[in-house]
Amino acid sequence: MSIKLVASAVSRWADDPWARGSWSLIGRHGSPQDRVALGAPAGSRLRIAGEATHPTRAGMTHGAYEQGLAAAAWAADLGHARVAVVGAGFAGLAAAGALTARGVDVRVWEARDRIGGRAAGAEVGGFGFDLGANWLQQYDDNALARLAESLGLPVVATDFTDPLELGSPVPGETDPEGLERELRARLAAAPEGAAIDDVLAAWLRDPAPWTPAAIRRLVDAEIVMDSGAPLSWLSARHGFEPGVGEGDRWIVGGYQRLVQHLADGIDVRLGRPVREIRVGDDGVRLAGDGATLEADAVIVTAPVPVLAAGAITFTPPLPGAHRTALSRLGAGRVEKVVLRFEQRFWPPYRSGYYRIHGPEAGCMSEWLDATAADGVPTLVGLFAGPWLDTLWAGDDAAVARRAAGIVAEAVTAGTAGR
Ligand SMILES: Cc1cc2nc3c(=O)[nH]c(=O)nc-3n(C[C@H](O)[C@H](O)[C@H](O)COP(=O)(O)OP(=O)(O)OC[C@H]3O[C@@H](n4cnc5c(N)ncnc54)[C@H](O)[C@@H]3O)c2cc1C
Repeated sequence: MSIKLVASAVSRWADDPWARGSWSLIGRHGSPQDRVALGAPAGSRLRIAGEATHPTRAGMTHGAYEQGLAAAAWAADLGHARVAVVGAGFAGLAAAGALTARGVDVRVWEARDRIGGRAAGAEVGGFGFDLGANWLQQYDDNALARLAESLGLPVVATDFTDPLELGSPVPGETDPEGLERELRARLAAAPEGAAIDDVLAAWLRDPAPWTPAAIRRLVDAEIVMDSGAPLSWLSARHGFEPGVGEGDRWIVGGYQRLVQHLADGIDVRLGRPVREIRVGDDGVRLAGDGATLEADAVIVTAPVPVLAAGAITFTPPLPGAHRTALSRLGAGRVEKVVLRFEQRFWPPYRSGYYRIHGPEAGCMSEWLDATAADGVPTLVGLFAGPWLDTLWAGDDAAVARRAAGIVAEAVTAGTAGR
């Protein structure tokens, strides 16, 4: 099989100091209540927003957007005339836009030299693709989906329930729906404080009527791929949150037109990392890299691992409930590649969605056939699992070659659709 890569792009979310992971997750000692606690106002001048604070739509762009709007309403209702916003992702841009619309003087400080946060676009071989957020999830009940429609952005549906398995056949998976029901029932019945690993270990001791291999594959597909977190850390009861597979559609050309639209008319200062936030009786003072900003209140949208790492010093310190929430939430690692080829070498499939398991349990990749974008054979791959450390070693070209090799090998090994 001759496989020629003509263009590629690779994400580095785990190494990115302004993300430190992919999306927020609930650890074994946490619950959705920690998301609520993190997003509660810390007094009348400081509030944390962002995807991690949404109790039911965390880890998604529209959840971030809704939390930004909620924080903006809070600040405006309190009568603050000048508000500082930390971060120009969906939460920060939503907050800034809503405040501006209410006549509030808003300034956004963004650490990176671009807007969008974890919605990051890349031009790959002359066309825009996403290296972060890709799908509009929960499409029918998603404010950003309505915005995309109003802007006339083309979207393509992905049926995540109908993947084509590339590579080795699925072992002993005779009743996939029953197996998935059993997984969900076991997770829901897990005690508070249990991790996914605890549930899995008990199940594998007595797996009948399913095989251990089928159980592991399901956990890889539904949990490892959806979180990128160690299963010894992720909460069994709360770690499997809603989102993926609820009418998801991807935006042809990428998320950037939505981001640009929200940023229109907003005062965003790029390359301005906030290192310190002081909250006093008269207002707030932000400082970072020699610059300062004063305002009546501040909305902070930095991701959970960035806050937990102490990238911003708060004076006075964040309240205890916020710090506890930060210690119980975290983020996993899911990385992406966009690969564009001279020729198509993989089989077409109705859902445009593929899975490759292995080489070992816990290591897998998912693939979106994005050829519809502009007709050039294109795959967008998502990777999670312990192999990322070795897979993502070296420069981007090396990672892209390795990723393309994984698909080529799986296609050669054969396909086994469900
Ligand atoms: C690989 C990947 C795939 C994903 N796929 C999807 C998907 O298909 N659908 C979906 O809905 N969601 C997806 N997500 C999740 C989605 O991207 C996020 O939930 C959403 O973008 C978060 O928005 P936010 O505003 O809360 O945070 P962010 O987008 O992270 O914005 C926070 C901003 O704050 C800035 N910042 C951080 N610290 C500082 C500081 N100290 N000073 C100044 N600025 C700072 C950051 O640079 C960033 O711009 C994906 C994420 C990843 C990584």
